[in-house]
Amino acid sequence: MTSEPIDLAAAVAAAMPDLVALRRDLHAHPEVAFQERRTAEIVAARLRAAGLAVQEGVAETGVVGLLEGGRTGPTVAIRADMDALPLQEAGRAPYRSQTPGVMHACGHDGHTAIAVTIAEILARHREALPGRLKFLFQPAEETVGGATRMIAEGVLETPHVDAVLGLHLRNYLPVGQIGVKTGTIFASADELTIAVHGRGGHGALPHDAVDPIVVAAHLITALQTLVSRETSPLEPAVVTIAMIQGGTAFNIIPERVEMRGTVRAFDPALRERLLARVAEQAKALARAFGAEAEVATRLGCPAVVNDAHMADLVRRAGGAELGADAVEEVAGTTWGDDMADFLALRPGCYFFVGSANPARGLDRAHHNPHFDFDEDALRVGARVLARAALDALANGAPPTA
Ligand SMILES: [Zn+2]
Ligand SMILES: [Zn+2]
Repeated sequence: MTSEPIDLAAAVAAAMPDLVALRRDLHAHPEVAFQERRTAEIVAARLRAAGLAVQEGVAETGVVGLLEGGRTGPTVAIRADMDALPLQEAGRAPYRSQTPGVMHACGHDGHTAIAVTIAEILARHREALPGRLKFLFQPAEETVGGATRMIAEGVLETPHVDAVLGLHLRNYLPVGQIGVKTGTIFASADELTIAVHGRGGHGALPHDAVDPIVVAAHLITALQTLVSRETSPLEPAVVTIAMIQGGTAFNIIPERVEMRGTVRAFDPALRERLLARVAEQAKALARAFGAEAEVATRLGCPAVVNDAHMADLVRRAGGAELGADAVEEVAGTTWGDDMADFLALRPGCYFFVGSANPARGLDRAHHNPHFDFDEDALRVGARVLARAALDALANGAPPTA
């Protein structure tokens, strides 16, 4: 049982030129949700060349690679998302997007490149691995849905996955640091559509109409109280109305106003309550003004909840690879991520890898058209994720309920 520990520092350092090149290639050729065909082809070819058993076309464009270790043990999955965003890149990097209107503005190019590199490195140590590693390359994280599709197609079975690990680059954390949290680290993220139906008419004769614009204005204001007055100040929650559409001319009272937004929470009971209260408030308030409101909710993903044992394992892996000072306890975020669907079914840990370097201007927000990150984060992420996966195999992943 005493095989030499794998020198990940050396292996990742040696792989860095190739890791950076892969990330830049993916960055230059971004693909949106469920269209990650070129990305999937590259991933599948690389995994196959490394000797993994590869399954393509999982959830349309997903790829699963299985690395069978030389010894028996648990099966640990590493999940990476592959999709880009419908956004025009504004940066001028030589590896900028060559596809108009599509951009890797969240760092998923980095996640995919890291997971491919880890598969290649650990495949060379296959005989020493006490168990199996299953690499889950997921489509459609940004639109949410890739994870549930992959799960429905059986990626957590045959072989049964005991634990799931993953990382997200984070431009709010300096490069060189990782961010870990036990329990909820990402909020649930659901989508709202509220339509206010009034009665159209002449802008000069408001008394002959029911003005949905005025109702919408009241409603947007009222909705703010769901968090500020109805939710404990100690509980993370967000209600955002991000879109409003209504009206066609300065002198026409429209028939209808449509609003779209998002509800986010760490606590599942609070999530449910907020969604119910949005509908209640919208309907009651519209009625008070003689209008009608229709509320549709598209459930996105639940909160991402890290298992305590697996979060500890990541802390230790981070400490071993980078030193204890590099491991930061984070408060979590109201971002959503459908890694939640995997972690709802298996113990695991999703952690942040700092990718900001303000001195080089690499600290723009995710989903910003100027987003880019310090590529040294690829080295950090590959080392910590690979170390955590090896430790999860060696320690035996926590038993699955
Ligand atoms: Zn994103
Ligand atoms: Zn993301």
